[in-house]
Amino acid sequence: ESKRAGKDRINFFKPSMLEHIIRETKLEQGLKTAIVNQEISLVFQPQYFVGSGGLRGFETLIRWQSPQHGYVSPITFIPIAEKSGMIVTIGEWVLRTACTAFKKLQKSCEFSGKLAVNVSAVQMMERSFIPRFRKVLEETEFSPRNLEIEITETSLVHSIEQVRFIVNELQKIGITVALDDFGTGFSSLSYLQKLPFDLVKIDKSFIDNINRDLKSNQFVTTIITMVHQMNIPVLAEGVETESQKKFLLEKNCDMIQGYLYGKPMPIDEIKALLDLKEEHTD
Ligand code: C2E
Ligand code: MG
Ligand code: MG
Ligand code: MG
Repeated sequence: ESKRAGKDRINFFKPSMLEHIIRETKLEQGLKTAIVNQEISLVFQPQYFVGSGGLRGFETLIRWQSPQHGYVSPITFIPIAEKSGMIVTIGEWVLRTACTAFKKLQKSCEFSGKLAVNVSAVQMMERSFIPRFRKVLEETEFSPRNLEIEITETSLVHSIEQVRFIVNELQKIGITVALDDFGTGFSSLSYLQKLPFDLVKIDKSFIDNINRDLKSNQFVTTIITMVHQMNIPVLAEGVETESQKKFLLEKNCDMIQGYLYGKPMPIDEIKALLDLKEEHTD
């Protein structure tokens, strides 16, 4: 028995774990000054309607280029920002910067689509989330009708009543709310049933397996059918191939987003894309 405990204790001090803690601490330190030092920026990935091929909008994605750590993926630093509470400041910065950029863009070119912004559940559950959110919209003068909030289902660990309240408040302002990474969490179906989402985004992991095996195709088909029965449109994330696109078109998936159509781009490239579109429709 004591031998086992000893073994466990040795396991606990595995050098890789210590390295992991040290790295997280360094990243957390770096993150504290990342915004002021202008290491954080935003890119925007286009979303298209599958049927018409028309542009539906853009998803805002955060980027961190750190002088000490190089490029750090949001998959790594968002959880650190959530644990330390910094996500509240970062999330507000993302919303303000995205709305400001798109408001400015709307002055020179036509854009009436959706600007989607990822919001962490930690940020959403902060007491003053709704008033702070409203304030950013007022200050940037960005129309709430053009705004969509994406909530990742795996982050919805809070009470469903609390989440429902926030979702309702956002929808009252005119903002649409999307369920992100659908299918990856334990409670996908339960959330879908209990919360009034305006859009469901099927996670990339399911899209990757389209036309690789029969089960995956059936699974994606089932998701689309089921979500449609609830009168909610479906967007497929991470579409990379023509064969995936063809499949999604056949299954009546409403919208599509992925490298096949466009990678996340800085705002200047978005402007060029919209200018080009206007030239074609004129
Ligand atoms: P997400 O919201 O599900 O975003 C989709 C991710 O898939 C993005 O990764 C995007 O760049 C990537 N992607 C899109 N199409 C393709 C494709 O065809 N192929 C491949 N290989 N990848 C594709 P990214 O930008 O690294 O973001 C990862 C996650 O970090 C996001 O997943 C989101 O959960 C989180 N995140 C990003 N920006 C923010 C933010 O501003 N706030 C919060 N709270 N989370 C964010
Ligand atoms: Mg997202
Ligand atoms: Mg996603
Ligand atoms: Mg994701």
